[in-house]
Amino acid sequence: MTDMPTLALVAHDAKKDAMVEFARRHEDKLAAFNLVGTGTTGGRINDACPALNITRLKSGPLGGDQQIGAMIAEGKLQGLIFFIDPLSPMPHDVDVKALMRLAVVYDMPMALNPSTADILLRSARLKGLHTTSATPEVSAYSS
Ligand code: PGA
Repeated sequence: MTDMPTLALVAHDAKKDAMVEFARRHEDKLAAFNLVGTGTTGGRINDACPALNITRLKSGPLGGDQQIGAMIAEGKLQGLIFFIDPLSPMPHDVDVKALMRLAVVYDMPMALNPSTADILLRSARLKGLHTTSATPEVSAYSS
């Protein structure tokens, strides 16, 4: 990992083609981040854009979503792009909800679809400005 901000990329199966298209379209901008992704999503992005050098975590249903959630809780992530499939039941639905919940708790910039992800990548908030310590939710519950 470098001093660049870290961005996580996750896509459910029905959205993986959209994620590959997104990565190809924004390859130059994504090169300015440390990239992490869940196993299969990361593999697809690596195949399409090998220069991006995304770090692959476990597959989402095998704990990858929770690994990304832990990165949020530990202040190691600056943004999340998570192309969810709202039309299919997921065996790891609780993990999906937990990841989105932590992103909200820590006021993490998060995009759940390509049009919002386009906006997110253009935003200055992702350029190292995000901190995880300022949200009332966090300060109210931290011990
Ligand atoms: P995958 O995980 O990239 O390994 O498919 C994504 C998910 O389903 O959360």
